[in-house]
Amino acid sequence: MDLLKASFVEVADAVKSKKISAVEVTQFFLSRIEKLNPQLNAFITVSEKAIADAQEVDLKISKSDCIGPLAGIPFGIKDMLCTKGLRTTAGSKMLENFIPPYDATVVARLKSAGAIILGKLNQDEFAMGSSNETSYFGNCLNPWNTEYVPGGSSGGSAAAQAARMVMGTIGTDTGGSIRQPSSFCGIVGIKPTYGRVSRYGIVAFASSLDQAGPMVTSVQDAALTLESICGHDSMDSTTSQKAVPSFSKNLNSNIKGMKIGLLKEYSLGKIHPDVEQTYQKALEQLKLLGAEFVEISVGLTEFAVPMYYLISASEASSNLARYDGVKYGFRAQFNDLSSMTLDDFYAETRGQGFGTEVKRRIMLGTHCLSSGYYDAYYNKAGQVRRMLRDQYAQAFEQCDAIISPVTTSAAFKIKERSSDPLTMYMNDIFTTSANLAGLAGMSVPFGFSSLGLPIGIHLVGSHFDEQKILNIGAALESVSGTREKTPHVY
Ligand code: GLN
Repeated sequence: MDLLKASFVEVADAVKSKKISAVEVTQFFLSRIEKLNPQLNAFITVSEKAIADAQEVDLKISKSDCIGPLAGIPFGIKDMLCTKGLRTTAGSKMLENFIPPYDATVVARLKSAGAIILGKLNQDEFAMGSSNETSYFGNCLNPWNTEYVPGGSSGGSAAAQAARMVMGTIGTDTGGSIRQPSSFCGIVGIKPTYGRVSRYGIVAFASSLDQAGPMVTSVQDAALTLESICGHDSMDSTTSQKAVPSFSKNLNSNIKGMKIGLLKEYSLGKIHPDVEQTYQKALEQLKLLGAEFVEISVGLTEFAVPMYYLISASEASSNLARYDGVKYGFRAQFNDLSSMTLDDFYAETRGQGFGTEVKRRIMLGTHCLSSGYYDAYYNKAGQVRRMLRDQYAQAFEQCDAIISPVTTSAAFKIKERSSDPLTMYMNDIFTTSANLAGLAGMSVPFGFSSLGLPIGIHLVGSHFDEQKILNIGAALESVSGTREKTPHVY
């Protein structure tokens, strides 16, 4: 069995029928991590328990204990998700030595579906960034060309998946962090509808926007992973009670007659010709497959980036207040505590523990929430956000899904944008709206730039309508021809 090409279903079936053991699969990927991680820096921590966990899965199979659909599938997890007994850093010095006493619900559900956790993946610090350059643990690199960023914030997930250091990964997406790195590294990434997946045990960045989701090789693997991790969770009151559909069984790439909305505002982004060409090609192919197009308008897309940065920074400033060096996390060293004030203590600890980008967001967010500015900024952004949601609701009366590029360009070079936060933020022009409106969004690989870097197509679905974007994604995948190519580091 070619473990680099096989689907989750194929490998899980082989493990369950003992054609291959979970231990063998795990060993195979651990040795790939050993070989490739020095080149890519995708893993922050590799689990020392992976083989023992795989043995346990094999034991369950030998005893015919019911084992789930991901039996023996090795996963890497973004370092935002708590893993019991396995260091969870959020890419920050602040949590450099944090070992959670419990699993995030997503991780617990993966495990009970039979998955093996190989380790924790690199990311921008506290998921703030688009290039992995803000990680305290050093930049993860793009396996297609190591002079380029893998995207962010879930860059480690995207790079590890593209280089097949794992069979599957989980990322989180607050403003595009699953979709943008998926696009930059040529993999499939889906951000589920807000409330579809539990946030319990995920380091909070912006609680009204954060969602976790699969970053994998194929749409089918994405569907299978998504149905394994989603659904109501009593530990997260924002999770929906809605029944979980069998996304993988319902997957259907016949999109004849489906109405796809062309986002009028997509010209707001300065789109690179390579992306434009790929996008037009995708539209042509979808048309050949029988899709119909309608032009739709979501006028407030224009304000999505400022709205997103205002709301996410405000929520972050409140969420990150807990890292004070008292309860847990990093604490600065002091020679003489008796002569200092509590404020000095906090300032020193937080000053040393957080990186520049995180500090910038905390300051911006604190300012937006402060009395006198709250109404003008945070409240106003909330009002516009509701209007954006309404505009989407109207758009979805006319179409089944909305299509656009994921980003305006393919991956950029390391350091190319890191000195200019605003240029970096504009990266998120097409992705942030889905988070603000709570919609499902997905990136599907579809072609390459003139420099050979992957380009993804963005599909946005209505609330809890992941199935439609998965189906359109499967249709695109069937004609993309991108799966045959492998990255430089592989
Ligand atoms: N690039 C965006 C940011 O820097 C998105 C982050 C995310 O989705 N976690 O905030």
